[in-house]
Amino acid sequence: MMEMGKAKKRIYISLLLISIAILAALATAGVSLYFNRFTRFYKWTLFAILVILTALIVLLSLGLAATVLTLWHVKGFFGLERLINFSVNLLFPITVALGRVFHIPKDLIKSSYIEVNNNLVKAKNYRLKPADVLILAPHCLQRWDCPYKITADVKNCRRCGRCDISKLIALAEERGVHMAVATGGTLARKIVMDLRPKAIVAIACERDLSEGILDTNPIPVLGILNIRPEGPCVNTKVDVKKVKEALEFFLMGREKELKADEEQEPAISCSENTN
Ligand code: SF4
Repeated sequence: MMEMGKAKKRIYISLLLISIAILAALATAGVSLYFNRFTRFYKWTLFAILVILTALIVLLSLGLAATVLTLWHVKGFFGLERLINFSVNLLFPITVALGRVFHIPKDLIKSSYIEVNNNLVKAKNYRLKPADVLILAPHCLQRWDCPYKITADVKNCRRCGRCDISKLIALAEERGVHMAVATGGTLARKIVMDLRPKAIVAIACERDLSEGILDTNPIPVLGILNIRPEGPCVNTKVDVKKVKEALEFFLMGREKELKADEEQEPAISCSENTN
């Protein structure tokens, strides 16, 4: 145990030393660049840095343009799905930091990120087998005084109906998908590693959902925010209708939307005829 503790400390101290060495190298390079800015070596170094930065900015701009187009009712990613993921996920911590500067609440930025993520997921068409889909719920949905340990197995729930867990289990059984309840990010990651789903319908607060979406990337996640009538982390609730819609999207894709469009069409042609 003592050895393990020492090894852990060594890792952190080594990383700290490397960070200071990098900072010192950057400072030295900056000073040298200032005093020798016309020498060839520094010119080329500066040029290489500029090329890398420009390439990164071009990539991020392309990714953001594709994101905006996708969100702007254009269905499909133009083959830029990876680039979109890369840009949105890389810029996420920067947007949170910027939000701090402009005094925008963290939860507001995170819920906006979840909304963007959901819309990007919905730009793609899925038709997955029920066994490939997982409903991942937070432990706080369970009544705080319920004695049954549903994090080990949701089937331990006695379905008394005092919390939304019973409705979610009924929905999961009806659709034949997996369902699990996690106490936090570590257990959620373990569940995802064990079950290896191809899509996840996740319920949680802004912080856990945004972290979970980033963690499980590139697995598509439709995030649904929990409802907190008694404050955070206790006796929370969820709009089961939204969970059902998210499941239907992964199981039936856009078929539902297309059917809805087809149902609307005759009504339009009818009114055209009457004119
Ligand atoms: S439905 Fe009842 S038994 Fe099931 S988790 Fe909620 S309180 Fe416990």
